Amino acid sequence: MFYLEVARLAKSFGDTPVFSDISFDIRQGEFITLLGPSGCGKSTLLRSLAGLIPPDTGRIRVAGEDITWLKPQQRGIGMVFQSYALFPNLTVAGNIAFGLRMQKLDKAEIARRVAESVELVGLTGREHHHPARLSGGQRQRVALARALVVRPRILLLDEPLSALDAPIRKRLREQIRAIQQQLGLTTVFVTHDQEEALTLSDRIFVMNQGSIVQADTAEAVYTRPASDFVAGFMGSYN
Ligand code: ADP
Ligand code: MG
Repeated sequence: MFYLEVARLAKSFGDTPVFSDISFDIRQGEFITLLGPSGCGKSTLLRSLAGLIPPDTGRIRVAGEDITWLKPQQRGIGMVFQSYALFPNLTVAGNIAFGLRMQKLDKAEIARRVAESVELVGLTGREHHHPARLSGGQRQRVALARALVVRPRILLLDEPLSALDAPIRKRLREQIRAIQQQLGLTTVFVTHDQEEALTLSDRIFVMNQGSIVQADTAEAVYTRPASDFVAGFMGSYN
């Protein structure tokens, strides 16, 4: 029934726990926003799901398959980071094709997949440009295309808009949502921006100090906050 199932996940750095007992379930095709203040553990949680950080305990399942200990590239998870992390010496197409490096595909298939991703993110015509010639928004669309080129089962976005100017941010968030809906892609979008969360999400997971303190629709989180923290953080008062 649920597509992404996270059970009792825990992670400490040394003696300092980031989270000690996180559980949640996400349906296939859902767009979830993980919203919380800086330092509450959002990136650590996302990186654990992507396999970039090993959790201490707990289980992660996708479509019923336990992926907790699979390598990042075996998980069928695409991830986009706040900073674009593009290779300056590679073209747009080269950067996107890099996402396919672990897969054994012939040249024609690689070209097909790259073209498909370039079109999805609206960068057709810029395949041969280098990142230095692109705007911040375009660079982040290359990063998105690189995550999508593997046709992931799940997309993780870690504050992908934070480094961008406000007007570009708004446009790109609408494009991300449109692509996500077009593909029916199960997505976890991390932000500390309440407006982004309220406008984008099927459900919002509000996180504070290593715990998900409320998981509900935008409407419910905004009008019926589960605690003073949520009320204060969402800027609503009951
Ligand atoms: P967020 O993404 O919500 O801002 P993070 O997951 O980046 O939060 O960080 C959560 C906590 O874990 C912070 O206190 C941070 O300092 C700490 N932390 C994150 N990564 C590491 C690391 N590699 N080593 C030690 N502490 C870390
Ligand atoms: Mg973070």
